Amino acid sequence: MMQTLNLVDGVWIPAQTGETFDVLDPATDEVVARVPNGGRADAVAAIEAAARAQPRWRSTTADHRAAILWRLAASMRTQTDRLARLMTREQGKPLAEARGEIAYAASFFEWAAEEGKRLHGEVIPAPTSDKRIMVLRQPVGVTAAITPWNFPAAMITRKLGPALAAGCTMVVKPAEQTPLSALALAELAVDAGVPPGVLNVVTGDPEAIGAAFLEHPAVRVLSFTGSTEVGQHLVARSAQTLTRLSLELGGHAPFIVFDDADLDAAVAGAIASKFRNAGQTCISPNRFLVHHAVHDEFCARMLEACAMLRSGPGCEEGVTTGPLIDDAAVAKVKAHVDDAVARGAVLRCGGEAVRPAAGLTPRFFAPTLLEGVDGSMRLSHEETFGPVVGVREFSDEAEAVAIANDTPYGLAAYFYTRDHARVWRVAEALEYGIVGVNDGAPSTARAPFGGMKHSGMGREGGRWVMDEYTEIKYVSWGLG
Ligand code: NAP
Repeated sequence: MMQTLNLVDGVWIPAQTGETFDVLDPATDEVVARVPNGGRADAVAAIEAAARAQPRWRSTTADHRAAILWRLAASMRTQTDRLARLMTREQGKPLAEARGEIAYAASFFEWAAEEGKRLHGEVIPAPTSDKRIMVLRQPVGVTAAITPWNFPAAMITRKLGPALAAGCTMVVKPAEQTPLSALALAELAVDAGVPPGVLNVVTGDPEAIGAAFLEHPAVRVLSFTGSTEVGQHLVARSAQTLTRLSLELGGHAPFIVFDDADLDAAVAGAIASKFRNAGQTCISPNRFLVHHAVHDEFCARMLEACAMLRSGPGCEEGVTTGPLIDDAAVAKVKAHVDDAVARGAVLRCGGEAVRPAAGLTPRFFAPTLLEGVDGSMRLSHEETFGPVVGVREFSDEAEAVAIANDTPYGLAAYFYTRDHARVWRVAEALEYGIVGVNDGAPSTARAPFGGMKHSGMGREGGRWVMDEYTEIKYVSWGLG
């Protein structure tokens, strides 16, 4: 059972033109489903449904909205296996990772449901005795979300959870490569009691749908997760309407291993953070900076750890590394490896994409280890988005921090050390929104997720989770 129509105003419908596009399994290129190729008119219909539903939804209590979100999260958890299999088919990640993503995605509904009950206002002492000053936090209204293919469920729930909990309505445009997870979530949302128009999902043309989100006066917030390039394009387009943007963009994480690091922990953290989703995550380390005193040992252990990884279709037991999302992704990763080797890096393993068995696509990029990386190489300044570990040596802490910060990106950074004073120094010096200290997997709904510099604006998660979806209103009350 698979939902393949758009959800607008509580009704499952095709695109107004009747057009569809194919959703492919990146492991086999089989057509998994056909979904509506929606455009501007479909987006406008969804926005208008969201606007009609808005007054009634915002007037419900936070407890009522929380109960619906908890039901939705519970049904995701009950149906984890079905949702994970669907995700693996359209996205390629190993089933174990897909199951993990469903749990992570559900946790955003649960977290936001409770935070919605804590949208406290304030009473501020007034400057004169004949006034009272109050501050209210209210839902912004109609919101829109555009999400990427690498986390087809969690990137939606991280936005949808707080929007619904705050009393906002939403129109979601999922990535063209992974719309089925979004439509399956929407189906569960309807079953959990999300009323017609409160959640709408429109698949299709990103430019046309994105333009409708930014041009329609009813849309107050557009929350976008994706590449920095598209984020910049949306910022430029939002100039006329001044639609509020929340942006979770690309990253270029440094992963620093100091000479006093626990190397077992550093290798385990490096493997977990680098090879999750075949390196296709925004917080994936792109630059491994290793102190020269532990460089050879770290590389030797990484080589052993890479040999333990198993490439194959995500639905097969024991597979750790699925296919890259498409041929363009393979070409980019290969170009980064070739560029590094041409500039003097040493390839210790991997380096190319393989076809693990007949009937599979040649998109399975072998876990790759490069030594002798330097700042001139493409992988030192462009997001690789693949299973490539490029190691660069450093000599002291100041040099490591300087290299780490030498990028326009500022999403996640990692470092391994046992020196407590260094933990504070380096954590404070890194210009990143998320810092993992002896921790290769920092993501949780309980903490603020987001970047500095070209990695975005705003935070998702933690007690800040409602900020993007609420307005602060100041009420000055003259007592007469
Ligand atoms: P992308 O190409 O920017 O696409 C992201 C979303 O934007 C997709 O839904 C896409 O639609 C849509 N889009 C593309 N062009 C658009 C336009 N002109 N107007 C409006 N929407 C448009 O990024 P991606 O390749 O899917 O995802 C990978 C990127 O996302 C990486 O850079 C990664 O670091 C970043 N990311 C960041 C975070 C974070 O939290 N900071 C999390 C995950 C991923 P189509 O699919 O239909 O093209």
